[in-house]
Amino acid sequence: MTARVVVVGSANMDLVVETPTLPRPGETVLGDGFLAVPGGKGANQAVAAARAGADCHFLGAVGLDAFGDELKGCLAAAGVGLDGLRRVAGPSGVALIAVDAAAENLIVVAPGANAHFTDLDAIDRDLIAGCDVLLCQLEIPPETVAQAVAAARRGGTTIVLNAAPARALPDELLAGVDLLVVNQTEATVLAGLDGARDPDGDGLAPADDVPMLLDTLLTRVPRVVLTLGAAGAAYAERGGLRLEVGAPPVEAVDTTAAGDAFTGALAVAWAQGRAIEESLRWACAAGAACAQHRGASSSLPVQAEIDALYDRAYQPHPTA
Ligand code: ADP
Repeated sequence: MTARVVVVGSANMDLVVETPTLPRPGETVLGDGFLAVPGGKGANQAVAAARAGADCHFLGAVGLDAFGDELKGCLAAAGVGLDGLRRVAGPSGVALIAVDAAAENLIVVAPGANAHFTDLDAIDRDLIAGCDVLLCQLEIPPETVAQAVAAARRGGTTIVLNAAPARALPDELLAGVDLLVVNQTEATVLAGLDGARDPDGDGLAPADDVPMLLDTLLTRVPRVVLTLGAAGAAYAERGGLRLEVGAPPVEAVDTTAAGDAFTGALAVAWAQGRAIEESLRWACAAGAACAQHRGASSSLPVQAEIDALYDRAYQPHPTA
């Protein structure tokens, strides 16, 4: 049976300008290329999960503007179920992004419709309860995430939280989470270790101290996946199991949305009931496949691409 995943999260239009240098306050600089790209972590992860093969549904909000039409069209094109997509008065969420020649960026987000997504109704709660996995991020109001988590708990749906963007979280919100997915920055902030230099004196800064990050986060959630960029991902659960898997080596040209590709694919593999090591490797293959292409939502891989990279990287090949 096809795995059912529901994403409760954000949708933004990313307005990206490339510029030789980033402007200082009060300064105007001339940029080169301009791109308007559908994004937002919720929408990206919903597209990622649908392309990875899930029956995926998105609960979120866009405005009654042209960006809202475009965001809806992008999700629909990926086959994401949109019965729970709200169209609200006012603008869609927008991210204004300037990127310089060294790939350094400057981003201002206006949440727009995402900030008005404050309530789930009975139909939303039934949908969540009927899915295998609920996937949330932190770009919508926390009370909405809390309502989604409560509906999933009641329905026996597995709850995956991608705690991004980085921020500290109250225990109430983390209490219901089955699986936490974070990158090294998010893990450091969530563990309350940003600003610390080397708290356990082992010579490693918190963001690079994988065992310490995992130990700290396991005091708050039962299972953690920590993404490690080109190095892959680490997994730990209460009771002792620890795993680390390497990412497939690829020619990375743009890692934008690699984390979304990883998280969407991981939710699908989890919903399919695949073993944890295989799930992590498959998610790493999705992240690496995404990093091979320029762009955000457009570079999220389909199932066949993920399978091909997975087979190439992890399956034993007969030697000649
Ligand atoms: P985020 O994009 O959220 O900061 P990471 O940089 O940790 O997250 O990347 C998420 C996943 O994408 C990694 O766990 C890995 O599987 C894959 N990935 C990212 N960068 C690369 C890369 N340069 N080569 C191969 N895989 C990558």
